[in-house]
Amino acid sequence: TVILSIETSCDETAASVVRNGSEILSNVVVSQIESHKRFGGVVPEVASRHHVETITLVIEQALEEAGMTPEGLSAVAVTEGPGLIGALLVGINAAKAFSFAHDLPLIPVHHIAGHIYANQLEEELEFPLVALIVSGGHTELIYMEDHLSFEVIGETRDDAVGEAYDKVARVIGLPYPGGPHVDRLSREGADTFDFPRSYLEQGSYDFSFSGLKSAVINTLHNHRQKGLEVKKEDVAKSFQESAVDVLTKKTMDAVEEYEVKHLLVAGGVAANSGLRQRFESLCRENDVKLSIPKLKFCTDNAAMIGAVAHHLYQKDHFASLDLNGRNFIDIELFV
Ligand code: ATP
Ligand code: MG
Ligand code: FE
Repeated sequence: TVILSIETSCDETAASVVRNGSEILSNVVVSQIESHKRFGGVVPEVASRHHVETITLVIEQALEEAGMTPEGLSAVAVTEGPGLIGALLVGINAAKAFSFAHDLPLIPVHHIAGHIYANQLEEELEFPLVALIVSGGHTELIYMEDHLSFEVIGETRDDAVGEAYDKVARVIGLPYPGGPHVDRLSREGADTFDFPRSYLEQGSYDFSFSGLKSAVINTLHNHRQKGLEVKKEDVAKSFQESAVDVLTKKTMDAVEEYEVKHLLVAGGVAANSGLRQRFESLCRENDVKLSIPKLKFCTDNAAMIGAVAHHLYQKDHFASLDLNGRNFIDIELFV
């Protein structure tokens, strides 16, 4: 297959051409971060407007860089959700128009399936496997017996880990999105605060990060009230150690219980250096194959959507022109 894919679920306008689910012919990502920064987060209406302005150019550029005309394509794929509804609809409408104009099948793709399949852009997935999704809106452990089979074995009960990163960044005075800044600072700090690790009940693969987030906020507040100096680097490091401890412990427990030999890590927080290093050493010790996408494929992009769409095409998973955006889609039921 040669698939044109489109992703506009949040604040990147992205289009890509991917052959056979792994060979990237082009990958265009236009980020809106500069526009949202001054608000300290993504403003949905601003995001939609930017997508409208940019989408046509992004699609044209993706085709041009791939040296591809519509006649050479097998299908057009688009993120159907979850995401910001107004933002999703821009990509969906562009995909519908393209599909109609060039008589191509339309493939709706789950955004989180996309994050998981970003790993396929570098290597084949070996089933059964466990995938840890750590992004701005999701923290989930997923068991996959085969392609497109997703069983959620654990998920966050409150904040997503990316959300916690962004919140912590904000209270220590770092710009949005804060994850990469906290990551960078943590490399110069020490784990002096010993923040709580929330493992929940014995045997649970669920997560909870709101207690950790509150602990960071309260600690900063108390120190400032007493006029004590706090080293931002140490706060960043202590927060990151707590998050990484819990994420890696639960994931490695799942890898053991489900007897898998391949672990995928995916989503924006998979770009985190502390998390990557810890997983690298744990997987080496336990003889587990580890895949983490290249940094640019951890955060939102359209190539990952094309990677999933290749398999959906084999299953005739096509949408009609009444496809709508959805801000919630159960990943277990989406195929
Ligand atoms: P979702 O995929 O759940 O819909 P999203 O698309 O907004 O959410 P992503 O683009 O996958 O999220 O990831 C963005 C998140 O990743 C942000 O919270 C950002 O702070 C975080 N992030 C990016 N790089 C790093 C890093 N190096 N360390 C920690 N967090 C990071
Ligand atoms: Mg983003
Ligand atoms: Fe995402």
